[in-house]
Amino acid sequence: MRKKQFKAESKKLLDMMINSIYTHKEIFLRELISNASDAIDKLYFKSLTDNSVKLNRDDFKIMIELDKDNRIITISDNGIGMTGEELENNLGTIAKSGSLNFKNENADNEKAEDVSVIGQFGVGFYSSFMVADRVEVVSKAFGDEQAHKWTSSGVDGYTIEECDKEDAGTVITMHIKEDTENEHFSDYLEQYKIDELVKKYSDYIRYPIQMEMSHQVPDKDKEGEYITEVSVETLNSMVPLWRKSKSEIKPEEYNEFYKEKFMDYSDPQLVIHSKTEGQATFDSLLFIPENPPYDFYSKEYEKGLQLYSNGVLIMDKCSDLLPDYFSFVKGLVDSADLSLNISREMLQHDHQLRIIAKAIDKKIKNELKKLLNNDREKYNKFFDTFGTQLKYGVYANYGMEKDSLKDLIEFKSSMTDGYTTLKEYVDRMPEAQESIYYACGDSISKIEFLPQLEAVKEKGYEVLYFTDEIDEFAIQMLMEYDGKHFANICKDEVNLSTDEEKKEIEEKNESSKDLLEKIKGILGDKVSSVKFSNKLGSHPVSISAEGYVSLEMEKVLSQMPGANQGVKAQLVLEINSNHPVAQKLEAADDDTLKKYVTLLYSSARLVAGLDIENPTEFSDMLADMIQ
Ligand code: ADP
Ligand code: MG
Repeated sequence: MRKKQFKAESKKLLDMMINSIYTHKEIFLRELISNASDAIDKLYFKSLTDNSVKLNRDDFKIMIELDKDNRIITISDNGIGMTGEELENNLGTIAKSGSLNFKNENADNEKAEDVSVIGQFGVGFYSSFMVADRVEVVSKAFGDEQAHKWTSSGVDGYTIEECDKEDAGTVITMHIKEDTENEHFSDYLEQYKIDELVKKYSDYIRYPIQMEMSHQVPDKDKEGEYITEVSVETLNSMVPLWRKSKSEIKPEEYNEFYKEKFMDYSDPQLVIHSKTEGQATFDSLLFIPENPPYDFYSKEYEKGLQLYSNGVLIMDKCSDLLPDYFSFVKGLVDSADLSLNISREMLQHDHQLRIIAKAIDKKIKNELKKLLNNDREKYNKFFDTFGTQLKYGVYANYGMEKDSLKDLIEFKSSMTDGYTTLKEYVDRMPEAQESIYYACGDSISKIEFLPQLEAVKEKGYEVLYFTDEIDEFAIQMLMEYDGKHFANICKDEVNLSTDEEKKEIEEKNESSKDLLEKIKGILGDKVSSVKFSNKLGSHPVSISAEGYVSLEMEKVLSQMPGANQGVKAQLVLEINSNHPVAQKLEAADDDTLKKYVTLLYSSARLVAGLDIENPTEFSDMLADMIQ
């Protein structure tokens, strides 16, 4: 018999499988069972329209047999089977996926709804070579007279010959590899192991997966002795995990399911499993990962949930089911309200889908609210990882979602070690305090050095620390919380002085008009005004911004490409009227004043987290002064 060669890319994949050091070799069983289930789906589907199929729904099953002595695992199904040509095409090539072809051929057929094609996303048949050194596939296609046997021991090729088989279906015989120092392949010949693997990976397969199981039971006739009882058992529950009731599911089951299905190494932070009835009826099983997915911050990342129609996967990543601010959520939705042969474009306009998406959005928000109230530590950890997304959500789409998200965002502040919500902040506000104060900076320590902070803290007012670029933009979108406006302490409008103090500083500015104009003359366009201030605590000078654009916003906007380059904050140089430098300035001659002003302005910029235009000049002048 002539040996045939695998196609080039198949050979590569096969070689990978044979020499695999993949730790999840056990998934071979899932792959073969999925293929068997696909094949049964196809014949079952045919039976709905074709009277020549004599099998009923209950007759379909997948059988596993173990022969420990000869190191053989056999997996059989009574599905649609393969012709000789199909064996050749399907198992000699990987470029062409049979399941995909079948799906396309039947796309127009209404009854296609009943066909599930779960094999689409797996590693496939070749994974059997991770644990077997020889694999035989005996198959008879439904409606065909002749059965065929495909045999291969790996990369050197395969053979196909005619053989006998009574009924349509496929029998796969795997000759399990010998154990090595590191690998105990014999485990796969143990019934307990196979039982475990079926329950772990294939529990929700909709046809019974059966195996002959032997148990030791007490001998009724002989006291103290045992006999071996053998019976055929169905190993899988045939119900998808998400269809089971919550009380039946152990946390580990959720975790295993998540890790397997969404390819993560860590357990999820949060599992949200629910059944929804009403405008739309659906089951959903959602996960918030421990860490951002590896490609989360790349352009390639696609958000979305798996979409099932009645237990049958119809889309792997349905992006319409998740808003952008929840793009890190993984999971699936299963609804009987959706039709199976719906196209991507149709889905976008599907009314039912929109209702589901809305309900999912609400569900996640509710669960997060619950977590915030009941397990703050856990919530904070979540927020550390994904909080920025929620703040973007407040800002996005002109603040469309700001009201539903405002109680889920948190900030660091001058009064808490951890996070505070806006509600907690407002609840702590002293009666006299009118605004919600915040300060921006690259880091908390930088913010804590801001000259403006001291005066606000002295009043007993709390200051929110904005260290994320998005923070101030989100707040601008919110505009107010609980009737309280937000105020940037580094902006000119924040003034906590008493009326008397205000009057005093106004007079000071009025009487120093000439000096201030001189200083403004020295600085030119760099600032929009110069004034004396009494709210700088013990610090000599500071820079604040007036108008809409804050310093922090300028920094962010100037980093964006294009149109925002020109957006500049209007800077105000504030000089502490109570600081000795004020008198020094008043007493200085023109030359000295120029030096003082340049130095003070540069240092104020540094304190505000801005660059200075000419560091060399700054350094030279400083040295000069010291001399
Ligand atoms: P996939 O399932 O993604 O198509 P596989 O490598 O698992 O890829 O299987 C390749 C093809 O072989 C399948 O698409 C199917 O046409 C055929 N096949 C595999 N196992 C069986 C089976 N038990 N019965 C019928 N056809 C099968
Ligand atoms: Mg497959």
